[in-house]
Amino acid sequence: MATIELFNTLGGKIESLAPVGTPALRMYCCGPTVYDYGHIGNFRTFLHVDVLRRVIRQHGIPVEHVMNITDVDDKIIRNAAAAGVPIAQYTEKFERAFFEDLDALGIQRPEHISHATACIPDMVSLIQQLAAKDIAYQAEDGSWYFRIARFPEYGKLSKKDFDGIEDGARVDIDEYEKDAARDFALWKAVKPGEQSWDTALGTGRPGWHIECSAMATKFLGDDIDLHAGGEDLMFPHHENEIAQSESASGKPFARHWMHVRFLLVEGKKMSKSEGNFYTLRDLLLKGYRASAIRFLLISVPYRHQMNFTFKALADATNAVDRLRTFYQRMTILADLLKGGFDDSETATDPNILGIVEKAREDYTAALNNDLNTAEASAAIFELVRAGNAVADAGTLRPGVAVEILKVLDLFDGVFAVLEDRDAAITRAALAWAEAEGRIDEAAPELVATLAFSDADIDALVAERTQAKKTRNFARADAIRNDLLAKGILIEDSKDGVRWKRK
Ligand code: AMP
Ligand code: ZN
Repeated sequence: MATIELFNTLGGKIESLAPVGTPALRMYCCGPTVYDYGHIGNFRTFLHVDVLRRVIRQHGIPVEHVMNITDVDDKIIRNAAAAGVPIAQYTEKFERAFFEDLDALGIQRPEHISHATACIPDMVSLIQQLAAKDIAYQAEDGSWYFRIARFPEYGKLSKKDFDGIEDGARVDIDEYEKDAARDFALWKAVKPGEQSWDTALGTGRPGWHIECSAMATKFLGDDIDLHAGGEDLMFPHHENEIAQSESASGKPFARHWMHVRFLLVEGKKMSKSEGNFYTLRDLLLKGYRASAIRFLLISVPYRHQMNFTFKALADATNAVDRLRTFYQRMTILADLLKGGFDDSETATDPNILGIVEKAREDYTAALNNDLNTAEASAAIFELVRAGNAVADAGTLRPGVAVEILKVLDLFDGVFAVLEDRDAAITRAALAWAEAEGRIDEAAPELVATLAFSDADIDALVAERTQAKKTRNFARADAIRNDLLAKGILIEDSKDGVRWKRK
């Protein structure tokens, strides 16, 4: 089977990705800081890492994937203090929301999820290893720092030149200046009122960078296949992880580094500090569907920055609809065979099997080529277009529909948008908004639409079909119009009656 080719920030070029030394590919992705709800920029990064893990698994390679949860940092401490609650109580709600959002977006759970606060002894022992080599040193206030001057390769990931690194110039906040290489905090001595741990290093709490080095090693060993995160983490966070891990082990830390580029809004990074962000929940309450949000965020390849617009989100909604309608159409055709139908005599388009095969090849080649999700979905839409045309002409054999479904299933193994969980997800978002006293943020027509469960709608649609049979057209029309007013659209087609929420 072809290999997965992926840009490696460290090597500066596209390289083959494969596990080394173990059957599973060992990967680490920096997880969220659970101080607030994640915005869709954060999820763009997690979604592309999800695409990667799904592609790896489609290659028959198991993955061993670790994600940290940063549940102690400056922002968490500040916000928890402002709310007057312990940090664990403060982060619990945002962590729960984070996992609900991952599920809503169809992001697979990593094999290991690890809280920073659960791995303090691992971090302490890593800092002790560095201290034994005099690479970690303690400052007067009791904090521990990493001596960057002792790691000459510092800057090799971000390709920054740190000539003349000043030994002993320190920085101890979790948010760093963009360009300066300063000795960074490994362990922060306790400050009044802050959560702290009593350890062999003294009383205090870990820095952010040591978290990831310690957890990657704890679960995956000291040389891993892949490390991923958003582009902002390349420097200094990942550079610092490399410095810590490689200084301790004497081995290269991660062979492959993947960085997902930013989601932008009108040319600016979507971020909390710019105030230009949307959370998943914001969009669900406006009536956008989780599947469309997933599709939109992954449809621009990870190595391109992506500009968020509502127009693009509306287009993504239509794209997902089109895929689902096509899938249903092919399923209805393919199901004829289950009823014992023999299609060997059925009229058949001479080119369609070639088109199906080409779609499969183009799709696979696009993903193998640095996860080109745009070309991969274009290949599938070409199949949708051709398949619909042939089906319209009445020359699509059920046997061919079976082959088309196999390609669509392959596609959905990565894109994961065909199963319609949207209404249930939106309903859960509405319940959350109600509980948080934020229901007034929800679009009113959405609240009305979701007042009907799927079963209610099925029953009304069945009643309408019955009314038509008994020529009670007034009742049939009334049902259709009532549902339409609630945003539910009934479609009569030659394959039967379908409905969907607008
Ligand atoms: P945080 O919770 O802030 O630590 O961020 C979680 C992940 O989201 C990190 O990998 C960040 O690099 C990534 N991230 C933050 N902002 C954006 C953005 N606008 N677009 C894409 N990824 C982002
Ligand atoms: Zn990290």
